[in-house]
Amino acid sequence: NTFAEIDLGEALNLNIQRCKYVKPTPVQRNAIPILAAGRDLMACAQTGSGKTAAFCFPIISGIMKDQNIERPRGVRGVYPLAVILSPTRELACQIHDEARKFSYQTGVKVVVAYGGTPVNQQIRELERGVDILVATPGRLNDLLERGRVSLQMVRFLALDEADRMLDMGFEPQIRKIVQQMDMPPPGVRQTMLFSATFPREIQRLASDFLSNYIFLAV
Ligand code: AMP
Repeated sequence: NTFAEIDLGEALNLNIQRCKYVKPTPVQRNAIPILAAGRDLMACAQTGSGKTAAFCFPIISGIMKDQNIERPRGVRGVYPLAVILSPTRELACQIHDEARKFSYQTGVKVVVAYGGTPVNQQIRELERGVDILVATPGRLNDLLERGRVSLQMVRFLALDEADRMLDMGFEPQIRKIVQQMDMPPPGVRQTMLFSATFPREIQRLASDFLSNYIFLAV
């Protein structure tokens, strides 16, 4: 019942200690081993449950192992290895702040992109390098249309507060984004969907985007 028991890598375990996380929360205790084993996951998680760490830890740990992957440069913008989609700017910034603390001195670069502000500064930030892109769906589509980001190397996709994203009308945007991840060359993408509620539309999203997934309700 400690984070050290889950093999997340030394640098990440050190950061978890720095954040003063001693005991995993229930969603972390259950989700992290499933994700660390490479399985897709749909998880029931409320705000305050510790869900951010539940999807960030396995993503950071996985990228630390994958960092030497050759990524194309320039042609179609930058190539993140992970995308975390969030409904609002506030939530995206919170996830970004946490993910940056967790990835301190791991070499994993986290960038956030959200709408409602000029896009150029975010583009410059992306061009300095990105492993994990935290984004709102509208702004990510904008960056895709501008040819500034390619999703062809994405190995990890996390949909946070998926029910809220659908309530806000982001479903077409999310589908466009995921479509770009499914373009060749075919990689192995691990997908994690976090939601507080599970209406039919969420279940449809899960069956369209997740493969052979585990449903976790804690
Ligand atoms: P979240 O549900 O991801 O928004 O997290 C809620 C709050 O709990 C955040 O302030 C986290 O930093 C904190 N938190 C998450 N996991 C733990 C943990 N295992 N131990 C202590 N605090 C945590």
